[in-house]
Amino acid sequence: MSELIVRGISKIFDEKTTSIPIFENIDFRAEKGQLIGIYGPSGAGKSTLLHILGGLDFPTQGSVRACGLDLANLSAKKLAQFRNQHIGFVFQFYHLLPEFTVTENVMLPLLIAGGNRLNARTEAEKILTNMGLGKRLAYYPAKLSGGEQQRVAIARASIMQPPILLADEPTGNLDVETGKQVWNYLLKWQEQYQVTMIIVTHNPELINSLPIVYELKNGSLHRKIYETNT
Ligand code: ADP
Repeated sequence: MSELIVRGISKIFDEKTTSIPIFENIDFRAEKGQLIGIYGPSGAGKSTLLHILGGLDFPTQGSVRACGLDLANLSAKKLAQFRNQHIGFVFQFYHLLPEFTVTENVMLPLLIAGGNRLNARTEAEKILTNMGLGKRLAYYPAKLSGGEQQRVAIARASIMQPPILLADEPTGNLDVETGKQVWNYLLKWQEQYQVTMIIVTHNPELINSLPIVYELKNGSLHRKIYETNT
């Protein structure tokens, strides 16, 4: 069974006096364990597409099935539950909660799922230690470097072991060296747990290292045909 099946989706943002079409009639499919990159010019709609794939936004037309469920058919509560258990998000600007410590940020998805606090803490500390952040557990996000904050965000996105992980410019705010480290953490996680991972990036070097690549441009999504190892 495909992990993600997108059929004929279009997105139009309706503003007060005008409608802004972003993309039209996009078909897309991701199989379990695939590692897929999406690139395209700024403003092409990559973030919008990723949000729709993860149920953070909805298409104007068309359907998105993730892990066998049509996301449009879920109530807001079921959709939130679905996202909590099946989708991990990593954003360019980390989106950590500043009033919580590193460990607390990573515990949150488990607590939202109704998990036991002690167990959530143990799991969070384990995953953070594995990501080289064992000495930062009690820090607040503002005291961390960008690369450290993004590793915390990856730990938070991964702690539920979601089958799908969506990353939006995960290295976009980092210097080249730190970006490579963060990138390697993502790829290591993908390989270890055979996560279906979709990464949006501008970075040509990073995108070219991915086995499956799509370009979003002028409202259409096209698979690049030069990939060799799929
Ligand atoms: P990308 O990630 O490729 O840079 P985005 O998906 O962020 O592109 O944005 C695509 C276009 O949609 C941009 O022109 C942006 O201004 C517009 N857009 C994004 N979100 C909204 C929104 N909520 N309302 C209106 N326009 C939006």
